[in-house]
Amino acid sequence: MESVDIGNIKFDEKGLVPAVVQDARSGEVLMVAYMNAESLAKTVESGDTWFFSRSRQKLWHKGEESGHFQHVKRIYVDCDADTLVVEAIPEGPACHTGNRSCFYRSLAQWDNTKAKGSLTILHTLFEEIKDRRIHPQEKSYTNYLQKEGKNKIDKKIGEEASEVIIADQHEDKEEIIDESCDLLYHLFVLWENAGVDLYDIMQKLEERDEKKGNKKVVGHLDKTF
Ligand code: AMP
Ligand code: ZN
Ligand code: ZN
Ligand code: ZN
Repeated sequence: MESVDIGNIKFDEKGLVPAVVQDARSGEVLMVAYMNAESLAKTVESGDTWFFSRSRQKLWHKGEESGHFQHVKRIYVDCDADTLVVEAIPEGPACHTGNRSCFYRSLAQWDNTKAKGSLTILHTLFEEIKDRRIHPQEKSYTNYLQKEGKNKIDKKIGEEASEVIIADQHEDKEEIIDESCDLLYHLFVLWENAGVDLYDIMQKLEERDEKKGNKKVVGHLDKTF
C-alpha cells in the first residue's frame, strides 16, 4: 500500500483533521473526533489514540478518564489527505454514553428488517462467548459447554455438522441456514475453549488469500508515514 508522509496531512484552518475510529477487527465505526498535529504525533508514537478536544480546547488521550483506551493498529489517509481512518482495538466502549460505538442512533433507513446482515455479528458473538467465561451467567448454555469442556463441545460440532449435511441433502435453505448458525456458534465455542481467537482465523484466511494473489492484504503496524 502507498504511504503518505505525516507532513502531507492537510489540517483545516483550525489546525484539525477529522479522524474516523474503526474497530480494527470488525470494521465497526466507533467514533469521530479531531486530531491536531500534536495529537496525531502522540498517536503515532504511543500507539494509543490522542485527539484534540474542541469543547475543552486541549489534548485528549482517549480513555484518560474512562480507562477505555484505544490501541492503534493502522492509520489510513484519504485521497486528498484531509481525513484519517484509525483502526484500533478498543479496551471498552468508545462512546461516553457507554455504547460501544457513538453511532448507536439511526437517522434514516431504507429497509424494514431489523437484522442488517453485517459481518459485525461474528465479532459480537465471539466477544460474547469470551465474556461469558469472565462473567458467567445462570442458565447460560455457553457456560455449560465451557464447564463440560472439549469432549462435549467436540461432540456437538459433530452433531451440528451432521445436521448441516442433512439439511443440504433436504435442499432446504431455511434448514441449512439454521443448522449453519448452530454449527458456527459451536465452532466459536470450540475456538474460545481452545484459546484460538476469531482474529487468528481471520488473519489466516487473509494470509491464504494473499498467497493466491487475489488481494493486497494490508501490512501490519504500518508506521512508514
Ligand atoms: P475518556 O477519554 O473516555 O476517558 O473520556 C474523557 C472525556 O471525553 C469525557 O469528558 C467524555 O465525556 C469525553 N468523551 C469520551 N468519549 C467521547 C466520544 N466518543 N466523543 C466525544 N466525547 C467523548
Ligand atoms: Zn478528503
Ligand atoms: Zn459518543
Ligand atoms: Zn442444529
